[in-house]
Amino acid sequence: MISDLLSEKAGTYLRRLCEKIPGRCVGSKGNRAGTDFFAGIVASFGFETESPEFDCIEWTQGGARLTIDGETFEVFVSPYTLACHISAPLVIASIVEELEASEISNKILLLRGDIAKEQLMPKNFTFYNPDHHKRIVHLLESKKPQAIIAATSRNPELAGAVYPFPLIEDGDFDIPSVYMTEEEGKRLAEHSGRKILLDIKAKRIPSKGCNVIARKGADPNRRVVLFAHIDAKDGTPGATDNATGIVVLLLLAELLANYSGSLGIEIVALNGEDYYSAPGEMQYLGNNAGKFSEIILGINIDGVGYHQGKTAYSLYDCPPDIAGAVREMFSLHKGIVEGEPWYQGDHGLFLMNKRPALAITSERLTEILTEIVHTPKDNPEIVDSTKVAEVAVALRDLLLHLDNT
Ligand SMILES: [Zn+2]
Repeated sequence: MISDLLSEKAGTYLRRLCEKIPGRCVGSKGNRAGTDFFAGIVASFGFETESPEFDCIEWTQGGARLTIDGETFEVFVSPYTLACHISAPLVIASIVEELEASEISNKILLLRGDIAKEQLMPKNFTFYNPDHHKRIVHLLESKKPQAIIAATSRNPELAGAVYPFPLIEDGDFDIPSVYMTEEEGKRLAEHSGRKILLDIKAKRIPSKGCNVIARKGADPNRRVVLFAHIDAKDGTPGATDNATGIVVLLLLAELLANYSGSLGIEIVALNGEDYYSAPGEMQYLGNNAGKFSEIILGINIDGVGYHQGKTAYSLYDCPPDIAGAVREMFSLHKGIVEGEPWYQGDHGLFLMNKRPALAITSERLTEILTEIVHTPKDNPEIVDSTKVAEVAVALRDLLLHLDNT
């Protein structure tokens, strides 16, 4: 049974993270408020807590303007771009070969069509970075257009719920850029060769962020690690992505306030899943190099608590005893079912280190990813707090079970 008190507490934590704290984008004040809040609560339940820092950027923007002889086009500022104020002829590329063949060094480049159909992976994002992205980024940096305009299409499979989506979102890429809708791109393309004026107001400010790591249990050499990412994209309250995951960890910390077992329990608010260079993930990997073998199970919670459908878990490379324990303990909860595997989450950190992993999300993850994620729609109204509390209780039971066996 999930107590009303626990569900109520889930709702209170959720509103604190999504409404009182204004945005949890890495490097921002809200992000720092989020990690401070998390660290304070887990410490109050007797967890040994540390908040190792990393360098990042706080990025601010004041809009952009694109005009041709007084005619205005609607553009959006690419996240993390540098500012510019330039006037240069427009040149267009729709496929890589076109980009390769064209002379663009003193021009403003419009990318549209095939070449702009998926967001380019940031230069220093190492987890997934396909060669055709690297090739486009390399071409852009060596050919040095003065600025880039990307007209991007509606592409829920690859870009999620956001339209238009920024083709470039990279604080390590120094060519100023904006993005626009496909329709606006079509209108702009009629002006190829003409002189256009582009003004971007934006600023990169050096900042700091941190992971929060909380530990309990006598044996640090045999531990279960629980991840939830605490950061959110700019422009979204990030309720299911991933305030609810953080709320699960906060409730779990309270449920384990009197825990005195030998199994090590490490609760981690990872800071960077939605930030271009994944700094929290990189830091965790660095600090745990050579120590992943101590982890008997890695758990990642992301996207839980969606008001429609059930909670879904999936197992990755789990030995039979661990898989059996998870299935046994979770089957006690009506609202939790075994679902489809997914690979885009932070449980990838465990998998790349060959550790068994458990991922917990919502059964309707596809719906969240294609309609809600990274938009203002991802707010506490689409969350059922009872489901969030249920995950915390199920995890507590699992951890106690693993400690006893
Ligand atoms: Zn996200």
